[in-house]
Amino acid sequence: MAFFTSRSFVFHVKRAAVALALVATATGSGAALTGCGTVSKDFVTGNDRALGYTWAQQVQIGRESDPQILAQFGAYPNESLEQYVNRIGQKIVAVSHLRSGNPATVGLNRPAVPSDVQNTPVTFRVLDSPIINAMALPGGYIYVTRGLLANLENEAQLAVVLGHEVGHVARQHAARQAYQAQRAQLGLIGAMIAGSVIGGTAGQVANALGQYGGQGLQLLLLKYGRDAEEESDRLGVEYASLAGYDAS
Ligand SMILES: [Zn+2]
Repeated sequence: MAFFTSRSFVFHVKRAAVALALVATATGSGAALTGCGTVSKDFVTGNDRALGYTWAQQVQIGRESDPQILAQFGAYPNESLEQYVNRIGQKIVAVSHLRSGNPATVGLNRPAVPSDVQNTPVTFRVLDSPIINAMALPGGYIYVTRGLLANLENEAQLAVVLGHEVGHVARQHAARQAYQAQRAQLGLIGAMIAGSVIGGTAGQVANALGQYGGQGLQLLLLKYGRDAEEESDRLGVEYASLAGYDAS
């Protein structure tokens, strides 16, 4: 594509992307989400996989965190733009590993998608931030900033970015990373610190959301490893292509 070459663009987005996860503390009123790992299906490979959270828990984390993301950034007050992003996003979801039965995916030999996953809505929001960023919460909440949208040159680019984020959700990367942290008995905060540098944006979000600690929630910022980012890059291109975009 003839925009800032897709490579440099995606790199920029990747660097800026953070994963946000809220986990109820032991004293919190929410369900206890910490603890031992669980064996779940990998929706992309169909293999069993040890994860830190079940799908239901991932959905709960997303649902509880979404209002706090909105409180921090604010929704961009442009309903038609949000509808536009949602329309492209739902086209991506329809051909993703979170759904089955789309004509474009027939013959791909994908593993069966559990019905609770198929029935999980995926929400797309535009955040009122100039920072170029895209994020995914576990369980189906995906955000792009108005700064990102201003830097896109065509719909195919948006489709690839949304596909990348849907890829994080479909590969359950946050739950995978949580399991690794539990296994190492680091706790997620330890994993975050060991993980690597948290950018300014993420830090600001952490500070803002830290104010919600009184609700017994703790913000954890996870930076995915290179393998996870590459998986999502591949899925982003695959999903965008299946949805009919020139994602080459
Ligand atoms: Zn990513």
